Amino acid sequence: MPLTPEQQAEISEQRAQSAPTRRVVAPGMEQHLYTAQPVLDHGFVRVIDYMGDDAAITQAARVSYGKGTKAVQNDEGLIRYLMRHWHSTPFEMCEIKLHVKLPVFVARQWIRHRTANVNEYSARYSILDREFYIPAEEHLAKQSVINNQGRGDTLVGEDAQRVLEMLKADSARAYDNYATMIDEGEDGNGIALARELARMNLPANIYTQWYWKVDLHNLFHFLRLRADSHAQYEIRVYAEEICRLVADWVPYAYKAFEDYRLGGAQLSQPAVEALRKMLKGEKVEAADVGMSAREWREFMDIVS
Ligand SMILES: Cc1cc2nc3c(=O)[nH]c(=O)nc-3n(C[C@H](O)[C@H](O)[C@H](O)COP(=O)(O)OP(=O)(O)OC[C@H]3O[C@@H](n4cnc5c(N)ncnc54)[C@H](O)[C@@H]3O)c2cc1C
Repeated sequence: MPLTPEQQAEISEQRAQSAPTRRVVAPGMEQHLYTAQPVLDHGFVRVIDYMGDDAAITQAARVSYGKGTKAVQNDEGLIRYLMRHWHSTPFEMCEIKLHVKLPVFVARQWIRHRTANVNEYSARYSILDREFYIPAEEHLAKQSVINNQGRGDTLVGEDAQRVLEMLKADSARAYDNYATMIDEGEDGNGIALARELARMNLPANIYTQWYWKVDLHNLFHFLRLRADSHAQYEIRVYAEEICRLVADWVPYAYKAFEDYRLGGAQLSQPAVEALRKMLKGEKVEAADVGMSAREWREFMDIVS
């Protein structure tokens, strides 16, 4: 488990406390609050705070005075309508604050999502832990020959072992040098290099941590891209864990997201034209509707 007994005790203490409130509480999210959900070998995602629930979305959409709920099925129907028609601002009324521990190379992809608020652990101020992401053997794969941005066949046998040994050795050596460079020594006779400089030799598989706060609309955008099968496995597993949390927090909104975004598909005008022809029983090929071979392949992946 990535947490120390002291960190676990702090979480347990927080979970033991509760406060009366007039604010909306989502029971599904309360069960997760503060708990670290493990991801990869040393990472986690944990909910620090949240605002709103399914009813908060419809309340905002109706700009109502009370809870905004007329009937449960009305709420669900309205949420699905909003999602279907890209009426996104009501979803921005819900917010979530997460504490995430993740490898630096995953953080580099994650930070591209600019519509969130981030505060990262400072490696200028603090000493980084000796924690490196070492993939499980089944996640080592050769470069894909059909997709420049992806993995192909799983690496097996000696090659897999060699890769794992190299990753472990490089991580250990880099951290040993980092520790030597920052060491103050017993009588102050160590190198004591500034932490902001010593960190530069550390590889991208070292773990960092941040608090990440985002509204539900932008979180769905993040999840749409990162829980997708084309996203890199190491960020996808974080997105999938967040999907589980969101499903418990705002079940109607999550179901609508799953139906219309995550599991849905966007069709271009030529694709719609091709589909219409197919439904009429006409034989249609890419050139008939002006689609490239790649577009056609992607279209066929959707409809077949
Ligand atoms: C499979 C995959 C592969 C990728 N490959 C690469 C790659 O090779 N190289 C690379 O650099 N990136 C890559 N990316 C990152 C990608 O280009 C986006 O930067 C990232 O997904 C964040 O998306 P976003 O900008 O829509 O999100 P956010 O930053 O959260 O923005 C959400 C939306 O807000 C609006 N917005 C936010 N800020 C601005 C702004 N300053 N100006 C205008 N509109 C704004 C846009 O409409 C945007 O869609 C990849 C992403 C994925 C999912």
